[in-house]
Amino acid sequence: MLSNEDILRLRTDFPILEEKIYGKPLIYFDNGATTQKPVQVLSKIEYAYKHLNANIHRGVHYLSQKATEAHEEARSTVADFLGAAQREEVIFTRGTTEAINLVAFSYGEAFCTEGDEIVVSVLEHHSNIVPWQMLCERKGLVLRVIPMNERGELDLEAYASLLNGRTRLVSVAHVSNVLGTVNPVGEMIRMAHDKGIKVLIDGAQAVPHIPVDVQQLDADFYVFSAHKIYGPTGIGILYGKQELLNAMPPCQGGGEMIDKVSFEKTTYNVLPFKFEAGTPDYIGSTALAEALRYVSAIGLDAIAGYEQALTEYATEQLMQIDRMRIIGTAREKSAVLSFLVGDIHPYDLGMLLDKMGIAVRTGHHCAQPLIDSLHIPGTVRASFSFYNTRDEVDLFIKALQRIVPMLS
Ligand code: PMP
Repeated sequence: MLSNEDILRLRTDFPILEEKIYGKPLIYFDNGATTQKPVQVLSKIEYAYKHLNANIHRGVHYLSQKATEAHEEARSTVADFLGAAQREEVIFTRGTTEAINLVAFSYGEAFCTEGDEIVVSVLEHHSNIVPWQMLCERKGLVLRVIPMNERGELDLEAYASLLNGRTRLVSVAHVSNVLGTVNPVGEMIRMAHDKGIKVLIDGAQAVPHIPVDVQQLDADFYVFSAHKIYGPTGIGILYGKQELLNAMPPCQGGGEMIDKVSFEKTTYNVLPFKFEAGTPDYIGSTALAEALRYVSAIGLDAIAGYEQALTEYATEQLMQIDRMRIIGTAREKSAVLSFLVGDIHPYDLGMLLDKMGIAVRTGHHCAQPLIDSLHIPGTVRASFSFYNTRDEVDLFIKALQRIVPMLS
C-alpha cells in the first residue's frame, strides 16, 4: 500500500501539480481525460530529441540505428507490460481511437460479411461505437448492444443471448470512463470464445489503474492510449493475437508497411510493420516506454489499492452533500466518480469548481448513448490518479459545499 509520504514524494515528479489556477493550487481531477506527466517522461522526450533523433528502420548511420533500437525496445517494453506472447503483436497507433478504427476496418475486411453482427455495450465511449457503425454501414452488418442494470453493471444474461452464429466480434470497455464500472472482461471473453467469437477490449481507462495481462485475459485485441497512463499524447497501442493480425489486411499504405513495390504489384511487410505505414512516432514510443517503467516501478497493485481507497473516501464524503446523486455504483469500480446534485446543470458546477482551481470534466464524456439511456443531461466527473490526495478531496468537498447553495 502506498503511504501518504510515498504519495507526497511521487507528486514531486509532476511539475504541473505546482501550478496555481486563478491563484489557487491546482487540484487535478480530470485524469480520465488525460494524465499529467512525470519529469522522467518529460526528460526522456528531451533526451530523445537531443541525442537519438533520426528517422528509424531505414538508415545505415549510427543515429538512425540508435533511434531504431530505442523504438523497438519500447515495443518490447509494451509487450512485457501487457504480457503479450510476442513483441510483434504490439502495433503502435496514434491512440485508442486509431487502434479501434484499425481493427474495425481491417478485421472487418478480413472476417465480416453482410448480415454479420458486432456486439458493443451501452456504456462505450464514442470511439468504441462509431468505428463499428461505420463498418456496419460499409458492409451491411448489424450492431448489437449489451444493456446494463441500474448500478451500471453489464447484464451478462442479455450478453449471452446476443452471442450467436452471426456474431463476428465483441468490443467492450475494460473500465467505463463515465461510471467507473470495471467490466468482467475475463468472463465475457470466455463466454464469447465458447462460441468461437473474437473480443476486443478497450483498455483506455483500465491500464493506468489495474494490472492487465492480455494472455491471462485471452483477449484477441487490447487497445490503450499513452496519454492516459502518464505518457505523451499522439501515441497508443493495438495489441492483437499474431494469427489474427496476420490474417488481416493493412489499412494504410505507405512507407515501411511494404515488402516490395512495383506498379504491377505490391507486397506487404510482416508484423508489426504491416500496420505501421509512414514514419512512426519513435520519440513518443520511447517516452511511452519510460511512462510504463515509471508506473511499473510504483506497482500497479499498489496504485490500484491506493486509488480504490481514495475513491471510496471521496464517495463517502460526496454522499454528505445534500441532493447528491452518484451516477454509477457498480460493485467493481475504478477511480472514476460521476455525480449530479439536485437539478443543477453539471456545466455550472464544473465552471465554479474551475474558479476554485479544481479541474473536473462535465458533459456527456463522449458517451452520449449511455447518458441518454440514463435520462440525464450529463455528469460532473472526478477521475483520480495516485498523485491525488485526501486533502485534495476534502478541499473539493468544501468547494462543493460552498457552490451548491449558490446554484440551488
Ligand atoms: N475509450 C475510452 C474508454 C476512453 O475513456 C477514451 C478517452 N476518453 C477513449 C476510448 C479514446 O481515447 P483517445 O482519445 O486517446 O483515442
